[in-house]
Amino acid sequence: MKADRIVKPSSLEQAYEILISEKSATILGGGLFLRLQKKHFTTLIDCSHLLSSEILIGDVISIGSMTSLRDIETNLSLPKGLNQSVKQISGVGVRNLATIGGSVYGRYPFSDINTMLVALDATLTFFNSGKISMRKYNEEGLKEKDILLEISFRAPQFSASAFYKKVYTDFSLINLSVSNNTLAIGARPMRPIYLEHVDFSKSPKEILSEVEFGSDFKGSKEYRRALCEARLEDLIYTMGGHHEN
Ligand SMILES: Cc1cc2nc3c(=O)[nH]c(=O)nc-3n(C[C@H](O)[C@H](O)[C@H](O)COP(=O)(O)OP(=O)(O)OC[C@H]3O[C@@H](n4cnc5c(N)ncnc54)[C@H](O)[C@@H]3O)c2cc1C
Repeated sequence: MKADRIVKPSSLEQAYEILISEKSATILGGGLFLRLQKKHFTTLIDCSHLLSSEILIGDVISIGSMTSLRDIETNLSLPKGLNQSVKQISGVGVRNLATIGGSVYGRYPFSDINTMLVALDATLTFFNSGKISMRKYNEEGLKEKDILLEISFRAPQFSASAFYKKVYTDFSLINLSVSNNTLAIGARPMRPIYLEHVDFSKSPKEILSEVEFGSDFKGSKEYRRALCEARLEDLIYTMGGHHEN
């Protein structure tokens, strides 16, 4: 990545103005993925002093977009599934720097936390576009660049997250998240999808029968389906249930 300049605007209004007036201007989150891109940016906009990195716990939980994945991992007042979804991401150094804002905004199909946020039916608040559901954003993205301010969702009664990786530091070959009776599946390797009103007394094979999986250099769609069934079986046991066959 190359950048001509980094700016620290004095307000979000000013940050947004720069973002939309320059084609190659972009918001800087933790910078970990931006750094890896082979792109030339005119301006990197550092909003770390303007965006929240706070986690507010209540019936509705809200997480500021600059919150690090490490803070999400270690905040045990958050739903357990959310802690679990980030706990295995790379090393502590990466989790200290990577932000939830950068993870969500990038709509990375492999993302572990995004699958959990789809299961939680999270709401995203953008500076200009206002509130958009994570599920809609995940499928359609935005028409124009924007600044993500916070992520919020209703606290679930139950949540859990599971994944499969060949190597600890690798991306997941498959990831699954449960929030109450909603199941989301990501890294298929397409973007996460979700199933609502899931009857977890059914077999993983039955539950996943309509879910589409794809192949890439990491594994075939058949392999991914088998992994997903196995990890779902584990999740169902964690949830205290087991299917009949
Ligand atoms: C070595 C390594 C291993 C990883 N392994 C995994 C893994 O196993 N599982 C996994 O899920 N993830 C993994 N990740 C990804 C990581 O979790 C983050 O998703 C990623 O680093 C992006 O977060 P960031 O804060 O660094 O964003 P940045 O790189 O700063 O930004 C990413 C994108 O989001 C935009 N952006 C950032 N913040 C905002 C905002 N507030 N508003 C609008 N736009 C914004 C940027 O302009 C950019 O387009 C890994 C990353 C690294 C570097």
